[in-house]
Amino acid sequence: MKINKNYLALEDSYLFSTIAKKVKAYAEKNPDKKIIRLGIGDVTIPLCSASVEAMKKASEEQGTKANFHGYGPEQGYEFLKTAIQSYYKEFAVSLEADEIFISDGAKSDLGNILDIFSRDNVVLIPNPVYPVYLDTNIMDGRTIVYMDANEENGFLPMPDPTVKADLIYMCSPNNPTGAVYSKEQLEEWVAYALKNDAVILFDAAYEAFITENGLPRSIFEIEGARQCAIEFCSFSKTAGFTGTRCGYTVVPMELKREGTVLNKLWLRRQTTKFNGVSYIVQRGAEAVFTKEGREQIKAATVYYQKNAKVITETMKELGIWFVGGVNSPYVWIKVQEGMTSWEYFDYLLEEKNIVGTPGSGFGRNGEGYFRLTAFGDADATKEAMERLKSK
Ligand code: PLP
Repeated sequence: MKINKNYLALEDSYLFSTIAKKVKAYAEKNPDKKIIRLGIGDVTIPLCSASVEAMKKASEEQGTKANFHGYGPEQGYEFLKTAIQSYYKEFAVSLEADEIFISDGAKSDLGNILDIFSRDNVVLIPNPVYPVYLDTNIMDGRTIVYMDANEENGFLPMPDPTVKADLIYMCSPNNPTGAVYSKEQLEEWVAYALKNDAVILFDAAYEAFITENGLPRSIFEIEGARQCAIEFCSFSKTAGFTGTRCGYTVVPMELKREGTVLNKLWLRRQTTKFNGVSYIVQRGAEAVFTKEGREQIKAATVYYQKNAKVITETMKELGIWFVGGVNSPYVWIKVQEGMTSWEYFDYLLEEKNIVGTPGSGFGRNGEGYFRLTAFGDADATKEAMERLKSK
């Protein structure tokens, strides 16, 4: 018996456990201090009532002989796929029902999608990055090439014609930086992917936070993307489903490599290894797209967006360089000259009693930067910013 030794090449992730340890130690020593947490990437507003009611009804149905649902289709129920199709139509993207695969969240699909790609592909991954892209490729022993996201490119790396990649990870709006690709920039990426026969794995988990007109919410708004991209999306940040679990992946029928339609491979993968998302949860997700559901989730997004604005306005006032926050719940700030991300963490915790996330935890290029999130309480976010402004 041999283990998968690639797992031994993974770096232990101490980021959030170290943050928790440091905060706990400080809080125990200083019980009178009010610590404000702007480090979390989880939502804090509960599920919208439209989803809750839909799931209550679906639970009742599960207890009746007439409306009981056993195993459902592995790719998801038609009612939810139809709702997603209508949603995409709003940004002029037409999807076939068979191109949409419902899952228990974007994280699983982002990891599982690698099943359909050969291990000898060259993988292009941004740095800093949402760690799942990196670790899932290390687990498979793939060749990884990094693309640098930095202040010069606004944390939006563009294709390097001298690099030949097969799989390209993109996340827009980005976690951790909050940066968002423009239509023109995505057009360049699609052109690069088509030229190199590469496949873009596009993570749109934060699309609901886009407020500015003209910024793509889906890679499929770009001409040619149906021949070179797979999109991952989630109800987690859009509708507070982080603990309820539902997402979806779009694999267009036109996406073919080596004469094979990738949609068919993913279908085979999912029907073999996955038994679908619970009927109750899919009814809850469907309700997100009703008129009431849309209004209710919009209110939550607006709440977070206001927090983001409070943070970005403060950064402007203090003359601190940042990116994100406008079309994203994340604000990526530059730390004080001469400090590392962790030194800035300690300074904020001890001097201002504010908790954020050190950028270095997301990769080498995150050193010297810091992530603040807009998922906190509005009053606490305002208070934190007042503390930053005070001497
Ligand atoms: N993609 C990005 C960029 C994320 O930040 C997250 C969660 O934080 C996910 C995907 C995972 O989302 P889900 O809850 O749908 O698994």
